[in-house]
Amino acid sequence: MMKSKILVVGLLLMVLMMFACGKEEPAAPELAQTPQTAVLAKEGDPAVLAKMDEINAQLATMGSNLFLNEIEFFTIGEGRPSNRILQQPFRWVPNDSRRDADGDNITYLVDKSDGKTASGLKNSDTEPAIDRALATWDDEITCEGGDKLDIIKRTDPGQDPDIFDSFFGFGGFGNPFFADIVNAGWLPRAYFEAVGGPGGGRGILAFSVTFIFLTGPGGPPSDINGDNYLDTALNEVYYNDTFGDRRDDRVADPWGINIPQRPGIDVETVALHENGHSLGIGHFGPPPDAVMNPRYAGMRQDLLSTDKAAYCINYSSWPNP
Ligand SMILES: [Zn+2]
Repeated sequence: MMKSKILVVGLLLMVLMMFACGKEEPAAPELAQTPQTAVLAKEGDPAVLAKMDEINAQLATMGSNLFLNEIEFFTIGEGRPSNRILQQPFRWVPNDSRRDADGDNITYLVDKSDGKTASGLKNSDTEPAIDRALATWDDEITCEGGDKLDIIKRTDPGQDPDIFDSFFGFGGFGNPFFADIVNAGWLPRAYFEAVGGPGGGRGILAFSVTFIFLTGPGGPPSDINGDNYLDTALNEVYYNDTFGDRRDDRVADPWGINIPQRPGIDVETVALHENGHSLGIGHFGPPPDAVMNPRYAGMRQDLLSTDKAAYCINYSSWPNP
């Protein structure tokens, strides 16, 4: 599958190059970018991908240069496919003024207003668990060649810091640039059913959504630092409040703090997984066991070697491409 895709892209590029060489006109730079994105197929659940297309059409209509590129679900029980529109990989751009970057640090915030859970946790329980998860990604890894990335917390501005929920009627279209990564809190089961489709409400623990920048509304994706990665614009993480809610059938698996195994879901474990996506790391395994396995397997508050290796692929030479 992968090999044939690479072959198709390679062939296309060859044809494009031949085409470009045979002509004197300088239209080649745009040509080299757009067909690549057009040819590489979308991957994931067709119903989810269709919703993503719809959202992107709405963003273009709004005159936004944002493009919803990826949704990753973390599940209990049955897994769900990753959903990606453009297959070219994406990364954060250091010092990117478009997202009000804090130099070459990556920033996050926790939306305090949605930090309590139906299972009885307060924001003063969940926010420190999320902070510990980010600190683990920040502190627990030493890459060969160094790790110069710092993950910095920004304070909750007290205004709506996210946008993805607005497309499903679960919140407003906020300002997504208060921080690079927004842990947007616990939302109702119906939201997860709407985003994930049938069964999503009872099977999805949390999900991460990544938007990238386009060169302009409806235009091709941008790569302003020329590193051959599309430019990540923002990431949002949402947690499913159905777990532990007495009104429905997930009451037996409540969100909790430092819960070693089921019944019960450990907030820090899920935050560690989700914010791995926020740092641009995808799913893998099992095997091997990893924080970035796509299904919940009990408490896992420390990174395993595969997680660390994946992080170092992205950040060992940070902030240089
Ligand atoms: Zn995941």
